[in-house]
Amino acid sequence: MHTLIDTHGRRIRYLRISVTDRCNLRCRYCMPENGVDWLPHESIMRYEEILRIIRLSARLGVDKVRLTGGEPLVRKDFLDFVSRVSRIEGIADLSLTTNAMLLETMAPALRAHGIARVNISLDTLERKKFVYITRTDAFERVMAGIQAARDQGMRIKINVVAIRGFNDDEILDFARLTLREPVEVRFIELMPMGCAARFDPAKTIKAFEIRQRIEQGIGALDKVVSGLGPAALYRIAGAPGMLGFIEPVSERSFCSRCNRIRLSASGGLRPCLFSQRQLDLLGPLRAGIDDQGLEELIRSGVAMKPFSGLNIDRGCETLMSTIGG
Ligand code: SAM
Ligand code: SF4
Repeated sequence: MHTLIDTHGRRIRYLRISVTDRCNLRCRYCMPENGVDWLPHESIMRYEEILRIIRLSARLGVDKVRLTGGEPLVRKDFLDFVSRVSRIEGIADLSLTTNAMLLETMAPALRAHGIARVNISLDTLERKKFVYITRTDAFERVMAGIQAARDQGMRIKINVVAIRGFNDDEILDFARLTLREPVEVRFIELMPMGCAARFDPAKTIKAFEIRQRIEQGIGALDKVVSGLGPAALYRIAGAPGMLGFIEPVSERSFCSRCNRIRLSASGGLRPCLFSQRQLDLLGPLRAGIDDQGLEELIRSGVAMKPFSGLNIDRGCETLMSTIGG
């Protein structure tokens, strides 16, 4: 078995793929109101091209794939693509990050095609605030999407970007969801990326502050010993669900645990979310590169992975929607 190890000794086994840069919401920290200049159709990786990259990555030891975007569910023929990914040998874990806008209708088929786990983005439990942050009147639709995922027995993680002055008053409400059901609520520190690069840094709420508020408002948190991955996991005593904290802004060890690479919608291999470094795979693919050449390209992409690309002071203008958050 081949493995992908970067120059800092981190074993790469997780590929996160943005299947489209388009989205049916306009979250204020992520996308401008009028969207962006969408990538032209021919610059977007075809499914066949993505599948070839996944197959080869699986031979190099990648066993975990997450499909994201933009909004992955808006891409045409997505279900057929999912079922083809789920049949790739070596991919043990296939998951999806979605805003749930289309989940009510698609959840049964997604489940049938191999998606057992979804991360759903939901930054507020209040209808009016949802309309504000997403600039879209679709709160009920998203809640129905979450329910549909539950009905399918999918394992659900709720991604909450914590924003001071917007949803800090809902931290306890989100945390209490874990008392009722086996959901993982993940608080994500707002990163100075894309539209949020122009936000006041004070809007980022550090994870320790969130934990402190939960301990004061609900009760002690027990640390859950977790495997790989960026989230620090906790549980309120006796709760069926868990609390996850994604703390790229405050936690120094965040990058040392990183085991992933990303593929942008236009076929750029991005070894680090925060770094502008990327290696074009689409050009060589379309020029007829053979598997050995492609494997070498993936290896050189991994070799470009910096220990940490995040520079909180400088931020990063790249839109999360193009590289897949
Ligand atoms: N559209 C899908 C969704 O929203 O779940 C998938 C793509 S979205 C870019 C993936 C995740 O990135 C979402 O949970 C979103 O909240 C998060 N995100 C986007 N911009 C962010 C930022 N500046 N800081 C922290 N998280 C961000
Ligand atoms: Fe779309 Fe997701 Fe970005 Fe919101 S966070 S605008 S749902 S890509």
